[in-house]
Amino acid sequence: MSIRLLPPHVADAIAAGEVIERPASVVKELVENSLDAGARRVSVELRGAGRTLIRVVDDGGGIAPQDLRLAFQRHATSKVASLEDLERIGTLGFRGEALASVAAVSDLECRSGGSRVRLRAGEVLEEGVAMPVPGTTIEVRDLFANTPARLRFLKTEATEQAACLKVVQSCALLYPGVRFEVLAEGRAVLRTSGEGDQRQAAAAVLGREVATELMTVEAEGVSGLVSQPRLSRGSREAILLAVNRRPISSRSLGYAVEECYLGFLEKGRYPVAVLDLELDPGAVDVNVHPAKREVRFRDERSIFGQVQRAVRAVLTQSQPYRLEPLQAGGLDQTSSPLRAPVLHDAPAPLYAVSSPQPALVDGSAGGLLRPLGQVLDGYLVAEGADGVILVDQHAAHERVLYNRFLGRLAGGPVASQPMLLPETLELDPELAAAAVDNRERFAALGFEVEDFGPRTVRVLAAPVETPAARVPEAVRELLAVMLDARPQDLLEKAAASLACHSAVRFGDRLDASEQRRLLRELEEAENSVTCPHGRPTRLVLDWQDLKRHFRRNY
Ligand code: ADP
Ligand code: MG
Repeated sequence: MSIRLLPPHVADAIAAGEVIERPASVVKELVENSLDAGARRVSVELRGAGRTLIRVVDDGGGIAPQDLRLAFQRHATSKVASLEDLERIGTLGFRGEALASVAAVSDLECRSGGSRVRLRAGEVLEEGVAMPVPGTTIEVRDLFANTPARLRFLKTEATEQAACLKVVQSCALLYPGVRFEVLAEGRAVLRTSGEGDQRQAAAAVLGREVATELMTVEAEGVSGLVSQPRLSRGSREAILLAVNRRPISSRSLGYAVEECYLGFLEKGRYPVAVLDLELDPGAVDVNVHPAKREVRFRDERSIFGQVQRAVRAVLTQSQPYRLEPLQAGGLDQTSSPLRAPVLHDAPAPLYAVSSPQPALVDGSAGGLLRPLGQVLDGYLVAEGADGVILVDQHAAHERVLYNRFLGRLAGGPVASQPMLLPETLELDPELAAAAVDNRERFAALGFEVEDFGPRTVRVLAAPVETPAARVPEAVRELLAVMLDARPQDLLEKAAASLACHSAVRFGDRLDASEQRRLLRELEEAENSVTCPHGRPTRLVLDWQDLKRHFRRNY
């Protein structure tokens, strides 16, 4: 076949494919335009999950009549004029491609500045006057009708609609000063107040119950909300990252956030987070992806650190897990009121809106815990300033010892005691070699380990915290960890392993003074709401809930 230039409508449909993959892409581009135009109200209406109709109405600056037709040409933009502008992009749009791309694959009508224009498959069909109302209205109908291949790749209506909604939810979380509304098939599925409060926006998007569990991050150009460890999700879906309020996808920064929760969340659990990085526009290149999803940082390492410092700083203020409060209505629940915390929800849909719950009491840690006893030889019951506390003795002790061992590995004082009978351990040669390689780490922890041949080591002293009978097992496990762990988390893994082997166990009876000591140590420990594996160390039944359970509503 000979080479020929594609007719414009074919070329346009091809180019549009990069920008407009699905209805949610249209919603994203149109809402971004509204935000760039300074809108304070944005309303999005969907029919047929966006295939039948997407209508976006804003009250922004509008388009001048003489520009209206131009706005729909490829590479037509009011946002950049020169190559230098491209280096410092301060708007969400800049490519001048979105409107042209949407128009190329739909039947579109735009009304703004007293004029209107209608295009189908990129061709202008009609132009004329419109009501001179402020702002811009764009209606997109029959999306992808002229590109059936694209149509076939769409997922179910529910999925496509959820994707459209998620786009607006993300904008609502990042632009709390803008009032958003989404109607799907005539039903309101999102409404925010636009009053400027991010937590309020989070309540509208994520549900009130979730919003009260979010902690405010505000440090070094990183701002937003992140969840208490006691609230988590089964997927990464609820982690929203943004740069200068542009939602981005970044594996690396996503990992920076997740890593902060190591030791706070169990494996496979993820936080809820909305984090915006305020960066000099020159420090980030947003022009690397047609849909502007990905960005490139000039100094990714330092940004990674910035994010981690900000998130870690608030995580140290995490609050304990609490027993589920009763619904305001009273004892109408089917299961026993004293049950496990429910904030660990089931694998969640994107951003599930949960039912309203009574506001959480501010459960600050203050006040000494008074031991009341031990139940099932595994849990301590105590009274604290906030309410009745149930402590998992193993998890609590693990946290205390983990912090202590980590401190030792970082050069803190050692507390070692000689073994009454030195233990001789038979090991695989590679484990025996690991003992030699890690002699200093063992010493820091309080072990004195001597190599005694290619397959044998002798333990002469052990940390004061590790019961003598458990020393052989503890050393074997430590060696296995030291052999397997990645260098960047070797110390944490080693401290966690030794803590687990040294801590009191379920079934160990503790006398009153042991109980008191453990409770005191737990109170003094940092990050003590979870054990190093991310399980809760204690549950609080706060006084208010206790009263409610007994219907003492005064
Ligand atoms: P870009 O956003 O990259 O500039 P678009 O194709 O999305 O490109 O839009 C082209 C131009 O149309 C914008 O630069 C802007 O001037 C104008 N425009 C689009 N949508 C709106 C809107 N809702 N309000 C005001 N102006 C708009
Ligand atoms: Mg745009």
